[in-house]
Amino acid sequence: MKSFYGVLSEKIARTSTVESFRFKLEEKINFEPGQFLKLIFDQKVIDSKTLNKYLSFSSSPLNDYIEVTKRLSDSDFSIALRALKPGDKLMFQGPMGNCVFKDSYEKIGFLIGGIGITPVISIIEYIAQKKLNTDIVLMYSNRHHGEIAFRQELDNWQKEHKGLNIVYILTDCLPKDNICIHGQIDKVLLQKHLTDIQQRKLFIFGPPVMVEAMKKMCDDLGCAKDLILAENFVGY
Ligand SMILES: Cc1cc2nc3c(=O)[nH]c(=O)nc-3n(C[C@H](O)[C@H](O)[C@H](O)COP(=O)(O)OP(=O)(O)OC[C@H]3O[C@@H](n4cnc5c(N)ncnc54)[C@H](O)[C@@H]3O)c2cc1C
Repeated sequence: MKSFYGVLSEKIARTSTVESFRFKLEEKINFEPGQFLKLIFDQKVIDSKTLNKYLSFSSSPLNDYIEVTKRLSDSDFSIALRALKPGDKLMFQGPMGNCVFKDSYEKIGFLIGGIGITPVISIIEYIAQKKLNTDIVLMYSNRHHGEIAFRQELDNWQKEHKGLNIVYILTDCLPKDNICIHGQIDKVLLQKHLTDIQQRKLFIFGPPVMVEAMKKMCDDLGCAKDLILAENFVGY
C-alpha cells in the first residue's frame, strides 16, 4: 500500500455539516475517478478505526490537488479533520477501490444517497474536463434542500454537459414543492427516469443499508450483476 503526504491548501463548506478539504501533494499520485484513500491521523496505530478512516476522492484525477469531503460528526476523526489548518501536513494511504469510471463507458447511471455523492463528483468532473460524450443519469437523494452537497457544481455541469441529467430526490420535501421530487429512490422512480437501466453501467455509493436496497431493486428490474459497481461507505 502506497503512503504519501499532502499539505492542506483549502477548506470548502459544502453544506452546514459537509466540508471539503483540498491538499497539495508532495508527489503526484495516479488514481481513477471513483476511488478512495485512507486518511492517517494516527501513524503509530495504522489500523486505528477511530483516527484513520476512508474517504473518497471528491475531485478529478486531472486536478493538481486532491480533495476529500466528509460529513462532519462529533467523532475524534471529524474533530481532527476540522482542526486542520492550511499548511498542515497529513499522511494518506491509497488509492483503493474498483468502482471506477472508464472512458469507454458510454451510458452510466448513479444511484446515490447523501454523502455517497463524493466519488460521483470525481467522475463527473473528470468527464467534464475531458469533454467525453458519456450519457449520465444521476439519481441523488437527500433529506432536504440544505443537505444537497455540490448542488451548484452539479447544476453548472448539467448546463455545460448535454448528456448529464440529474434527478434530485428529497425525502422530507413537501409534495407541493415542485423543485424536487418527493419520496425515495424506488422502482417507480427508476422506471420513470432510467428507462434503459438494463443498458447502463450503474454506480451505487452510500451507506451499506442503502447500497443493499439499491442492488436489490436493480436485480428486480433485471439489471445484469456485472453492470453494477457498488461501494459500501462502511461506518455510516
Ligand atoms: C470506501 C469508503 C468510502 C467512504 N467515503 C466517504 C466520503 O467520501 N465521505 C464521508 O463522509 N464518509 C465516507 N466514508 C465513511 C467514513 O470512512 C466514515 O466511516 C464515516 O464518515 C463516519 O465517520 P465518523 O468519524 O464521523 O463517524 P463515527 O461517529 O465514528 O461513526 C458513525 C457510526 O458508524 C459506526 N462505525 C464507525 N466506523 C465503523 C467501521 N469501521 N465499521 C463499522 N461501523 C463503524 C460507529 O459505531 C457509529 O455508530 C467512506 C467509507 C468507505 C469504506
